[in-house]
Amino acid sequence: MRKIIVQKFGGTSVADTEKIKNVARTVIREKENGNDVVVVVSAMGHTTDYLVKMAHDLTPTPSGREMDMLLSTGEGVSIALLAIAIQAAGYEAVSFNAMQVGIMTENVHSKARIIDIKTEKLRKNLNEGKIIVVAGFQGVTEDGEITTLGRGGSDTSAVALAAALNAERCDIYTDVEGVYTTDPRVVPNASRLNEISYEEMLELAHAGANVLHPRSVETAKQFNVPLRVRSSFKLDNLGTLIVGVDKMEIYKPVAGVAADSSQARIVVCDVPDKPGTAATIFGRLAKENISVDMIIQSYARKVSNTNDIAFTIDSSDLAKTISTLNALKAELNCGEIKVDDNIAKVSIVGAGMIDRPGIASTMFETLAEQGINIRMISTSEIKISCLVDKDKAQQAVKALHKVFELECNEVADVKGTLPDV
Ligand code: ASP
Ligand code: MG
Repeated sequence: MRKIIVQKFGGTSVADTEKIKNVARTVIREKENGNDVVVVVSAMGHTTDYLVKMAHDLTPTPSGREMDMLLSTGEGVSIALLAIAIQAAGYEAVSFNAMQVGIMTENVHSKARIIDIKTEKLRKNLNEGKIIVVAGFQGVTEDGEITTLGRGGSDTSAVALAAALNAERCDIYTDVEGVYTTDPRVVPNASRLNEISYEEMLELAHAGANVLHPRSVETAKQFNVPLRVRSSFKLDNLGTLIVGVDKMEIYKPVAGVAADSSQARIVVCDVPDKPGTAATIFGRLAKENISVDMIIQSYARKVSNTNDIAFTIDSSDLAKTISTLNALKAELNCGEIKVDDNIAKVSIVGAGMIDRPGIASTMFETLAEQGINIRMISTSEIKISCLVDKDKAQQAVKALHKVFELECNEVADVKGTLPDV
């Protein structure tokens, strides 16, 4: 049986028609290797940002349904253009949007999860020898409503398609050469990792490394899809392979350092110290579909019998969070609600830190030496995150990258160059 390879190209890789031609060549190359190819593309360049901006010019609170109608049009353009480019090069291609394929999602706007992908149409067209181009980022509900998977969601579309089709591999082509120990735009001598585990990648993605959409890594882990992040401009470079942690040998305690500046911290002050308070706050936020990241509850004050509950959210959920909490104020019988979005989360991640003491203290000492104040701390088995002032985030990343010996001798080529294929 022929192998199926899923390829995904992000917005920068399809930013103009020249680049789309380049993508067509990469797709054809894989087809010429004797594989069946399904290609997933994002919207061209900054199209999605532009669409968001236009909606916000009209109102700060556009409805979720119409936003999904609007944003899903971006990918509609790039799939058709890529199919045209492949056909112009003499190969058979067909483009499909999510509704045509049957990429079924839950009934939630702007961050829907994929529930099921129908494969009949895809298999039929692959069997007819066609290259298939599928719109990333979008889905459809059982009732035929258009949804989107959240910003950056095309990665997830690609991995979910690879899982549904039992593909050999999912290649994520992007404008960087793979996964780095940290953002090479911040630390020029960051090293490219040959391999990283799903678990570490997941933590890095949640910690703000923008290489992959976190849900794509979750899906790859769940279905054991080998995932390769590679440059769409340097095709001979194999990039970074993402695999299960059991398949890796780990030498260093820390694999990567990441910063996330799109966070906001909320403190609900003076909440009564009694059962059900946290359940009320976080239950209501969950109902509004707001994800909460770090959470700290202070030690109860004896005299007033109250404590403070602090947590972080994504800044894009800030307005909704404040209105949700304000509506709860009377029920909670709490004090002031404080908001601070001048913060960033800096994290170190590594499967090698399990059972190795001293990693956390090294992180805290390093930040102390830099005079950086830690506002909140949270940990998982393979990650330690510290909340710091936003303007200190880059300094923190540089110092941590150095102390955990992640530098390499070469300076990373972040921009990449177009090959003359
Ligand atoms: N076009 C969408 C976005 O910009 C999806 C993606 O690029 O993955 O977020
Ligand atoms: Mg992306």
